[in-house]
Amino acid sequence: MITRILPNLWRFTGTDKSNSYYLDVGEKVIIDAGNRSDRQEYVALFGKVVDFGSVHKVIFTHLHYDHIGNFDLFKNAKLFASAEEIAELDNNRAKAIMDENMAEKFKVKLYPLPSEIAGLEVIKTPGHTRGSVCLWYKQEKVLFTGDTLFGKKMLGRTDLPTSAPGMINASILKLVEYNYKILAGGHEY
Ligand SMILES: [Zn+2]
Repeated sequence: MITRILPNLWRFTGTDKSNSYYLDVGEKVIIDAGNRSDRQEYVALFGKVVDFGSVHKVIFTHLHYDHIGNFDLFKNAKLFASAEEIAELDNNRAKAIMDENMAEKFKVKLYPLPSEIAGLEVIKTPGHTRGSVCLWYKQEKVLFTGDTLFGKKMLGRTDLPTSAPGMINASILKLVEYNYKILAGGHEY
């Protein structure tokens, strides 16, 4: 399902309720790439909204399989994740991705996220995974939260292989300071 959230922001929601965002800020940016099990629908529906080959940057809030699934559609894009998340991947691919098949497929060059990218502020929010980030689109007050925080003020799980449960509270407290108008979560929960 496609939802247009702002004139320059679209959301694809898969059958497992995982989200992928397309933001056009002059640079074309994808935030999370959905679940590969939704690929057909992703291509058919999202492909009408965004020309995959023209995307400049793909930013992963973290590297779980349901956030990276369609990474390889963006043939000309640079792919980004936090340095911490990349380290987890280097340490144990299957553990970081939580899916053997995707771990096998996801052999890509990842660039470590700078503190700001395409006009978005990168907020380090360890907890759901040690390397999870949120992204702040200040101009429109949109907070992209990955699996750290969902729309109904629900927190992401912190009992997964690369979780950092002791760090989630500080991360949520950090997010409280952002007066967001739109919370753009990693899943429609
Ligand atoms: Zn996750």
